[in-house]
Amino acid sequence: AFITLEGGDGSGKTTQIGLLHAWLEGQGRTVVRTREPGGTELGVEIRRLVQHTEGHVAPRAEALLYAADRAHHVATLVRPALERGEVVLQDRYLDSSVAYQGAGRELDGGQVRDLSLWATDGLLPDLTILLDIDPAAGRERMAARADAPYDRLEETGDDFAQRVRAAYLELAAAEPDRFAVVDASGTAEEVHARVVSHVRAMLDA
Ligand code: ATP
Ligand code: C5P
Ligand code: MG
Repeated sequence: AFITLEGGDGSGKTTQIGLLHAWLEGQGRTVVRTREPGGTELGVEIRRLVQHTEGHVAPRAEALLYAADRAHHVATLVRPALERGEVVLQDRYLDSSVAYQGAGRELDGGQVRDLSLWATDGLLPDLTILLDIDPAAGRERMAARADAPYDRLEETGDDFAQRVRAAYLELAAAEPDRFAVVDASGTAEEVHARVVSHVRAMLDA
């Protein structure tokens, strides 16, 4: 099964992936935990290129870099694990591109999605957990984080974050069978319980 976690900055994706990873292993599942950008050696390079150039990457170039990362990641890591019957638990996937490069950088969301589907030969998750939170609350969480990425939030700002959130909710509404929208407010344990209820339902189906 292919499970992705999505949501705005500071929504708790990485925290919830850790908790869900432990829960799935407790259920006897073999789990490959990964993320993008940066799930492969090439991806680490792409992540560095796209995130450490302080917003000087042209939007279409940014979309292509994320798509290139995704193509390599799916071909070399994700598909092989799925073919072995393992659970792939992934921090961000194509919906991040539709939300960030599409709505955020104001590219055509449908085109960004099509680019990603081409890059991955059409691989869609079985379940996408959307951690939905008011961007201001996510921002507060990020500010408290020790390794908080230096410039990202200042560079993009509140409108950007609101566009990203709205785009994610639109994506979820358009594909209700794939998405589970989870209220990401409350403690990590409270959110985890909400996440698990959706994952359990998907695995039992
Ligand atoms: P990013 O998009 O930047 O990768 P993220 O969605 O992965 O963010 P996390 O890194 O999991 O979010 O969480 C951001 C910060 O908020 C971390 O310091 C984390 O410890 C904290 N945090 C996570 N979940 C909660 C929660 N439910 N309540 C309060 N703080 C939380
Ligand atoms: O910590 P994480 O890997 O989630 O950080 C990813 C950051 O990179 C996001 O905050 C966002 O600014 C950016 N990003 C993006 N487009 C993507 C994926 C990530 O702009 N498709
Ligand atoms: Mg994270």
